Amino acid sequence: MTTPQALTVLGATGSIGASTLDVVARHPERFTVFALTAQRQGERLLELCLRHRPRFAVLGEADAAVALARALRAAGSSTEVLSGPAALVEVASHPEVDAVMAAIVGAAGLLPTLAAARAGKKVLLANKESLVLAGPLFMDAVREGGAQLLPIDSEHNAVFQALPADYGREPDRAGVRRIMLTASGGPFRETPVEALEAVSPDQACAHPNWVMGRKISVDSATMMNKGLEVIEAHWLFGAPAERIDVVIHPQSVIHSMVEYVDGSVVAQLGNPDMRTPIAHALAYPERIEAGVRSLDLFEVARLTFERPDFDRFPCLALAYRALREGGAAAAVLNAANEEAVAAFLAGQLGFRRIHEVIDAALERAAGLSVESVDAVIASDAEARAIARREIHKRQTS
Ligand code: NAD
Ligand code: MG
Repeated sequence: MTTPQALTVLGATGSIGASTLDVVARHPERFTVFALTAQRQGERLLELCLRHRPRFAVLGEADAAVALARALRAAGSSTEVLSGPAALVEVASHPEVDAVMAAIVGAAGLLPTLAAARAGKKVLLANKESLVLAGPLFMDAVREGGAQLLPIDSEHNAVFQALPADYGREPDRAGVRRIMLTASGGPFRETPVEALEAVSPDQACAHPNWVMGRKISVDSATMMNKGLEVIEAHWLFGAPAERIDVVIHPQSVIHSMVEYVDGSVVAQLGNPDMRTPIAHALAYPERIEAGVRSLDLFEVARLTFERPDFDRFPCLALAYRALREGGAAAAVLNAANEEAVAAFLAGQLGFRRIHEVIDAALERAAGLSVESVDAVIASDAEARAIARREIHKRQTS
């Protein structure tokens, strides 16, 4: 019996955090929880700490952290409470940590995820935004830190499973012709485009196949999620934009595919449940029980495929454009998207204005750099300021 892996879960109170802790709790002999983090939701984090007994808990704000520490002490817990961004970096790179689940949403996940990579951890990457924002820096940090990067995003995890174990980010050497990322098409795949003008945040967050956080749910409704995933696939697998295709597959049973030069197409299938990719990455290269229902193909009965409609989903086209443009374009795309989605969720921006804000930000942002971490942070801030001005022009309330 080997010693258990010590795990830090960044974003423990979120949807991926919950699925991760569900899998971990099924295998107490394999995993110990070293740290759990959340931005808010001290009460939820308290419950998780009492159940999983981490050495550290991190909350975004100092006041909330004091309250959490008090509640933990009162409950007889020895979990130590920290707060703020530096504490996230600390628990992501601590010498006693083996693996880090990077499940913070948005650019806020960049610094701790990068720290885990630099410290040579096993990095389980759900936070796709950090790769979109700082792809080259992130991949350098993985290489230089000697980290093992395992994709959690279901599509990338599927591609990872369909590639040879020694795949070295060189499609040609492995005989890979193209990568096909599947997409459900989200809740508005068949909604008349005119009707999209009036959709509400709750309608956008009602995903047909997956239950996820609100930001990624809106990204799925605009298909920006798939756009971010195209960029993510580019950095993870070293494939250029023209060799990463998007296939709409409403059943979400095939999680993605790799086509080889001999015409073979290798796919990974399963019920849409994030515990599958999470368990795969947690135990890699072994396999563990994840609590996921067996796939009943007779119940699924039919797998269908459609070409994405770029007029219905302009955000997908914007993401391809940003990837082709290179430089800071993907960072601008990501920052403008985060701002536009937050404004949409707050009822301040129409659904069909989201892509307009991102398009305008890509047009207006000039001379930005992503050469260093400081440059990435400055470019992200500048792109957000531009996006906020564009949101203001289109604001509904
Ligand atoms: P979520 O909104 O449910 O949870 C986000 C977590 O991040 C929470 O614990 C929250 O407290 C924390 N957080 C938010 N803002 C923070 C900040 N500024 N600083 C520190 N922590 C902060 O989101 P989710 O659906 O679990 O998604 C998490 C990440 O995983 C995203 O990058 C998303 O794109 C990716 N992902 C999610 C799914 C899914 O099925 N939910 C699938 C694939 C990829
Ligand atoms: Mg995905």
